Amino acid sequence: MLDLFTIFSKGGIALWCFQSTSQLFTPSVNALIRSVILQERTGVMSYDHDSLRLQYKLDNEFDLVFVVAYQKILKLSYIDKLLSDVHLEFRDKYKNQLKNQQWIYDYNNFNDSYKNILTSAEQWGLQQAKMPKQMRTFDESAKSKKTVGSMIERKDDKDDNKKAKLKASPKSEKDADTFDSNGDAEMDLIQLNKLKLAEKLKAVQKKKTKTPKSPRTEKTGKEPRVWELGGTNKDLANLERTKDKPSDADDRIQANTALIGKMIGEIHDLEVESDSDDDDNDYMHNDTPVMKKESQKKKVSNGGMFSVLKGLVSSKSLKTEDLEPALEKMKDLLIAKNVASDISISLCDSVRTKLEGKILGTFQSVASTVKSTLEDSLVQILSPKRRVDILRDAYEAKKNNKPYVMSFCGVNGVGKSTNLAKICFWLIENNFRVLIAACDTFRAGAVEQLRTHTRHLNALHPADKHGNQTMVQLFEKGYGKDAAGIAMEAIRFAKDSRIDIVLIDTAGRMQDNEPLMRALAKLIKVNEPDLVLFVGEALVGNEAVDQLVKFNRALEDYSNSSNPRTIDGIVLTKFDTIDDKVGAAISMTYITGQPIVFVGTGQTYTDLKTLNAKAVVHALMK
Ligand code: GDP
Repeated sequence: MLDLFTIFSKGGIALWCFQSTSQLFTPSVNALIRSVILQERTGVMSYDHDSLRLQYKLDNEFDLVFVVAYQKILKLSYIDKLLSDVHLEFRDKYKNQLKNQQWIYDYNNFNDSYKNILTSAEQWGLQQAKMPKQMRTFDESAKSKKTVGSMIERKDDKDDNKKAKLKASPKSEKDADTFDSNGDAEMDLIQLNKLKLAEKLKAVQKKKTKTPKSPRTEKTGKEPRVWELGGTNKDLANLERTKDKPSDADDRIQANTALIGKMIGEIHDLEVESDSDDDDNDYMHNDTPVMKKESQKKKVSNGGMFSVLKGLVSSKSLKTEDLEPALEKMKDLLIAKNVASDISISLCDSVRTKLEGKILGTFQSVASTVKSTLEDSLVQILSPKRRVDILRDAYEAKKNNKPYVMSFCGVNGVGKSTNLAKICFWLIENNFRVLIAACDTFRAGAVEQLRTHTRHLNALHPADKHGNQTMVQLFEKGYGKDAAGIAMEAIRFAKDSRIDIVLIDTAGRMQDNEPLMRALAKLIKVNEPDLVLFVGEALVGNEAVDQLVKFNRALEDYSNSSNPRTIDGIVLTKFDTIDDKVGAAISMTYITGQPIVFVGTGQTYTDLKTLNAKAVVHALMK
C-alpha cells in the first residue's frame, strides 16, 4: 500500500528508508524538498508529484524530515497517525545519536519498529472506517468559524447600512445563503470591499465633475458581465455578447502632461504609510502614503494579534497546545486581511510546524518567535523566486529583431485594459514602440476603450518627440473574430513594422466558462507570448485563488500540449482601494508561486508600482 517511508536530516542526509516497490522516488522527494520544504511552505503537509502523494512531518528539535509516499488515488486515513507514531518512536529510540547529530549511524534496526507501527496504524485505519460517523462538535461546525464575518458585520453603523443594502438585493441574499451553507465568511468581506470601491469611485467622480452629473458620470464602473454558460459544445461564435456600453475607464484615466517623464527606468516599489506608534519602522521606505489606514480603530482590533501569547509560560520545548490560541487568532486576522481561508490555515500550520519542539526561553521570546516566524514565511512567499525584467527582455528581443509579446488575461472588470495602458505608458516612457492588439472581440466598447488610450498615450508622447515615429498603435479587427488569429496577425505586423513590444488585451472571462477558457489557451499556445500576465483585483480573497487556480488549470488542460504554458506573473489591481487588507497578494503568490509583476494603485498612467514584499507583510501584520 505504502510505497515509501524515509527519514532524513534537514541537511539532506538519509538516515533510514523503507521502500515497498522498485520505483525510483528520488525525483519526487527532491521535488518535495525544492517546492515545499526549501520554500518554507511547510504548512502544506501533503504534496502531490505525478501520481504520488507525499506527506511529511518536520522535527525542529533534531532537524529531521519524515516523508511517506503513496499513490494518490488511494484514500489512506491512517497516514497522519503513522507519521506521528514513527516520528515519536524514532526520536525516542535514537535520541542520543540525534542529540549529537550523529547522522552516520546504523539506523537499519528501525525496520522492525516501523513494521509494528505500520501494522497497528493500518488496523487503526480499518477500525476508524467501521465506526459510525460522529456528529460534528460546535467547534468543528461552519458556524463556529464565523468570527471574522461577524466581526466585520458589527464594525460600525456605516457598514451596517452597507449590509442592509446588501441584504436588500437578491444577489446578496444568495450570498448570505452561501455564507451560511459554506461557512464562508469571506463572501461578506468581498461584497463589502466591492461596495467600498464603488463608493470610492463615486467620490472620485463627484470631485472631478463640476457640472451636474449626467447618468454616465454617475456610473461607478462596469457591471461584472454574466457570460452565457450555454454548455460545453456551444460554439464561441454563438455565445451571446454583452450589451455593455463602451467603458468610461479610459476617460477616468488622466492623460495629464505632468505625468511625462515620471516612469522612466524601473518602476518604483509600492510604499506604505509610515505609522508613528509602530515598533517595526524598519519596513518603512518613505513618507508618501499609498495604502491608507482607515482608522486607528482597525489597528486596535488587530493590534492584539500577539497579546494572546501573554498567557504562555516558558517551557522547555514549545508544544502545539501552547500555540493553539495564538494560531487561531492569527488565522482569523489573516482572513480579515483578505488572505484566502485555506491559505491562512496553511500559514498557521506552517508556523506550528516550524515552532513545534523549539526550545524557547521567556515569554518575550515566544511572542517574538511566533511573530517573526510568520513574517519570515510571508516575506518568503512574496519574494519572487524569479525576477521578471521586462525592460531587459524587451531590449534583448529588439536586438534579435523580434517583438516582445505580453498577453493579459483575467475576469471581466478587474482592470486589464486600464493597467495594460499604464504598462504601455511605462514602456513608451522608456522609448519602446508599442502595438496594442485588441483581442477582446466580445465586449462592446473594448476596442474603443483601447483606441482612446492609444490617443491619450500618443498625445503624451507625440511622434515629433520620438524621431517622427508613432509610439503606440492599435491593431484591431473589430468584434466577433478569432482572438488567437488577431493576435498572430498583430505580432506579424509588429515584426514587419519593427515595433518593439506587443501588448495583447484579451476578453474578460469567468474562470468556469469552458469555451472562453479554451479560446484563451489557444491564443497562448498559438502565439507563445514572452509573458502571460494574469490580472486580478486586490479586493478579493478566496475568489482570487479560485480564479487563478482555474485559469492555470484551463491553460494546462486545453492547450493539448505535454508542456503547457501557464501564467508567468500577476498584475494586482486596485491596491489603492483596500486599506490594509493586502491578503490577496499573499494568496495569489502562494497559490501559483509566480511573482506579482505590477501593482495597480489608481487611475492615472503613473499609478503602477512593483510589489515590496516587506511593506505588504508590514501592512498585514498590523
Ligand atoms: P477590464 O474589463 O478588466 O479591462 O477592466 P477596465 O480596465 O475597464 O477597468 C475596470 C475599472 O477598474 C475601471 O473603472 C478602471 O478605472 C478601474 N481600475 C483599473 N485599475 C485600477 C486601479 O489600480 N485602481 C483603481 N482605483 N481603479 C482601477
